[in-house]
Amino acid sequence: MNAPRKVEVSGEAGYSIEIGPGLLADGARLARALRGRHALVVSDGNVAPLYLDGALAALAEAKPGLSVATFTIPPGEHEKTLERFTECLHALSELGATRDATVLALGGGVVGDLAGFAAACWMRGIDCVQLPTTLLAMVDSSVGGKTAVDLPSGKNLVGAFHPPRAVIADTSTLRTLPDRELRAGLAEVVKYGAIFDAGFLDWLESHADALLARDDAALAEAIARSCAFKADVVARDPYERGDRAMLNFGHTFGHAIETEQGYAGTTGDGLNHGEAVAVGMVLAARLSAALGRAGAADAERLQRLLERLGLPVRIPAGLDPQALLARMRLDKKADASGLRFVLWDRAGAARIVSGVADEQVLAVLRE
Ligand code: ADP
Ligand code: ZN
Repeated sequence: MNAPRKVEVSGEAGYSIEIGPGLLADGARLARALRGRHALVVSDGNVAPLYLDGALAALAEAKPGLSVATFTIPPGEHEKTLERFTECLHALSELGATRDATVLALGGGVVGDLAGFAAACWMRGIDCVQLPTTLLAMVDSSVGGKTAVDLPSGKNLVGAFHPPRAVIADTSTLRTLPDRELRAGLAEVVKYGAIFDAGFLDWLESHADALLARDDAALAEAIARSCAFKADVVARDPYERGDRAMLNFGHTFGHAIETEQGYAGTTGDGLNHGEAVAVGMVLAARLSAALGRAGAADAERLQRLLERLGLPVRIPAGLDPQALLARMRLDKKADASGLRFVLWDRAGAARIVSGVADEQVLAVLRE
């Protein structure tokens, strides 16, 4: 087995991200991330049957005195609720968790956000170790300390910044990930290239087939490079007061599409987050070109890469440009002078641009 890759997130509450195959079976590695005598493993109904027993067995062997409980939620974004959060706190209470307890989040972004938020709140904050099992969680949500649950009135409305104690990404778990979820994660991988590094976009073009075939080495490379980009931004701007907002490339458009579709991605009749971001990135690239900030050829190249990765690149039929615009105006990214977007200077270099006029946005939405 190759040695796992390691990416460090520096800063006051720094931590390391370890990436490699078979890490969930490595009890000593899991145990090193735990401080106290109590651990609660949070997972969901798809992931738990596949990976929970293995991880528990590895932990029990490496740390015999550990008192472990599990809390499993049904799968799906609709479970990221205050009700599940409360149940999670009750599970910690029943476990007798003290301040040195650890919450382990074994699953995708939903589990990671919920478990992270419970860890942020239990006794004003205990350790959370992220064990991401989706590509999206490995490259994005498990890193950076954003935790939250949804309210009926909106996504991620209740949450906290609470950096994990460690992130351990076992790439072997990606073998069972549904194709559509894998591709959604690849959209966020492409995002890093689009914002930070044209060379990474070249690399993705030449490794698209390997990534889709789930080649271990290609996936590990893509994850490690993505995590390094994210770690760098998060270390510079942990609370998203500035630069970190660059990670929203494609997200202003993407969120508008997701909201307009009523977040139907998980039920299959709408775009999921990564898919909406794929469409959003193409729109952001086109808007950049329309504003004379970047070349149209770069936007086309991005579109082709996303298409090759099996991602949508067009606004779903039936969505009204005016309605999408209205959603973006309601978004916190708008101010009196106009809309705020992350736009390209060129492929691989982005910046936050305020005051984009409605007409310019509408023109791109109508193309
Ligand atoms: P995301 O990570 O994209 O935010 P979720 O946490 O909702 O999203 O995970 C997406 C779906 O994939 C869920 O149904 C989840 O149960 C399932 N899932 C997560 N990891 C795996 C895996 N390694 N193998 C199979 N299914 C998985
Ligand atoms: Zn995203």
